[in-house]
Amino acid sequence: MKKKIAILGSTGSIGTQSLEVIKEQSEKLEVEVLTANSNSDLLIKQALEFKPNHVVIADESKYLEVKDALQPHDIKVYAGNKSIEELMGVTSADIVLTAMVGYSGLKPTVAAIQNKKRIALANKETLVVAGELITQLCAEHRTDLIPVDSEHSAIFQCLVGENPDSVEKIILTASGGPFRGKKREQLLEITKVQALKHPNWTMGAKITIDSATLMNKGLEVIEAKWLFGVKGEDIEVVVHPQSIIHSMVAFKDSSIKAQMGLPDMKLPIHYAFFYPDRISASFERMSFSKYGNLTFEQPDTDTFRNLALAYEAMAQGGNMACILNAANEIAVEAFLQDKIKFLQIAEINEKCMQSVSFIKQPSLNDYVLTDTETRNFAKSLLP
Ligand code: NDP
Ligand code: MG
Repeated sequence: MKKKIAILGSTGSIGTQSLEVIKEQSEKLEVEVLTANSNSDLLIKQALEFKPNHVVIADESKYLEVKDALQPHDIKVYAGNKSIEELMGVTSADIVLTAMVGYSGLKPTVAAIQNKKRIALANKETLVVAGELITQLCAEHRTDLIPVDSEHSAIFQCLVGENPDSVEKIILTASGGPFRGKKREQLLEITKVQALKHPNWTMGAKITIDSATLMNKGLEVIEAKWLFGVKGEDIEVVVHPQSIIHSMVAFKDSSIKAQMGLPDMKLPIHYAFFYPDRISASFERMSFSKYGNLTFEQPDTDTFRNLALAYEAMAQGGNMACILNAANEIAVEAFLQDKIKFLQIAEINEKCMQSVSFIKQPSLNDYVLTDTETRNFAKSLLP
């Protein structure tokens, strides 16, 4: 029996790489669902190649185009974000890969968990926004949450066979992004073209900007807290510019385990699809002779404020990380539209954290309201 995979966000960086993995493993994996926001051309092309049973395009104005192209091939087509959520509530897929970007991942992920689907989680924002709720739901519905983010996949792999009580600390590695070593004065006039050039990874625009501001690492610290049930103070960030050690776990006996490999997201995607098995893959092998120097340094949280803000949000709990996430989504979009400068991203995030209503024990509906309130407030700060 082939495993059936639903890919939410199939036209993006993670989505297209996951289809490469499925293609290589076509005797073991098949596509059940594909979804995209508005890239109808690529979605149609993918659907014609992989023949899923269901396809959703979030942008309703593209519905007829996608439907006309796919219905003759017996592929059911739907439109709108609500349809993605509804489909996740009833899909017969075995695994749901959440590879859409930002807050849009929350509701479909909740529906898939309630439908007892294994989640291969790339969309870290879901855990940042509502980590407590998501982990509770997973426990209630006995659903696995397998991380796809390379750092979290590394930690997950280091923890296999270990007693959770023996963990002393999680050590998340960070590449440091394109502006590693620079000070605030040098970042005043950074352009989006400069910020979109990541030294080691090719990714979607939003996460690439998050990597340049270190917000990505901040989101990942929060993601790690929920995935691995550790306290904020037990998560350390170490800058490792070569991105070969994907992260580490330190144990109470002073031993440290690291997971290593070339920077290629196909490996953590492949691992999440087959866990707990390890299946042969054709990915390029790492040669130690090409990596003579693996180096480590401390992150500069004075210059890259977002990482410090993430620790603060985590310490405050409640809906604070949801506020930080929504503020950041608006700020990054504004930066990508040349409306604000690079350093203003963190300034907007901080102002939202100070101003939006704090809720200590939010429900799913509170998260939805917090997201809306924060977006409106962040937009009011834009020029
Ligand atoms: P991309 O921007 O490349 O792709 C995003 C995908 O989601 C596209 O298919 C896009 O459709 C779809 N999408 C975007 N907005 C919406 C929306 N509002 N509703 C429904 N679908 C939407 O992102 P990435 O692949 O880089 O990242 C995806 C997620 O994975 C993010 O949460 C990111 O943080 C995480 N991640 C990514 C890594 C990477 O290497 N890229 C590494 C680790 C984590 P369309 O093409 O039509 O716009
Ligand atoms: Mg990562």
